[in-house]
Amino acid sequence: MIYPSRTASWTSPRVSGTGLVPSCQACEMDTRRISPNELEVMQAWLAHDVADAAVLRTQLTAETEVYRSCSCGCGSIGFVNIDESLDPGVSIFDVDAEIVDENGATVGGMTLLIRNGRLHDVDVHTWLDPLPFPTVEEVRWHPRTGRDD
Ligand SMILES: [Zn+2]
Repeated sequence: MIYPSRTASWTSPRVSGTGLVPSCQACEMDTRRISPNELEVMQAWLAHDVADAAVLRTQLTAETEVYRSCSCGCGSIGFVNIDESLDPGVSIFDVDAEIVDENGATVGGMTLLIRNGRLHDVDVHTWLDPLPFPTVEEVRWHPRTGRDD
């Protein structure tokens, strides 16, 4: 996981107020607008009425800026947040995403990470070859219950 910084103009490593050291990868971060498919999946994900969902929905538009957050070839995306200055704690959205193939067999999953109450990263994971970002038809949603916080 990387912690990107929007301040791309720095030339030497420095420690921010939160103690995070921006990585080299972060300063070369290529951002783009969220794709229509990614937007559709994220809207379906955030449509669940769980903690943080209502506020996260307000951050998601067709103009939302994302970047490739993993270099393994998978479809993981990170969300560009200008304010990286607050609590660096990352939490996990209360709905897990299971990725299935055309036969309904599980091929992987996605985890939505939240930081400072903001969309932070979608981690696409699998046990096989790196998966692209799935379509909404390829996702099964699993609200998580009994979380102890
Ligand atoms: Zn990856």
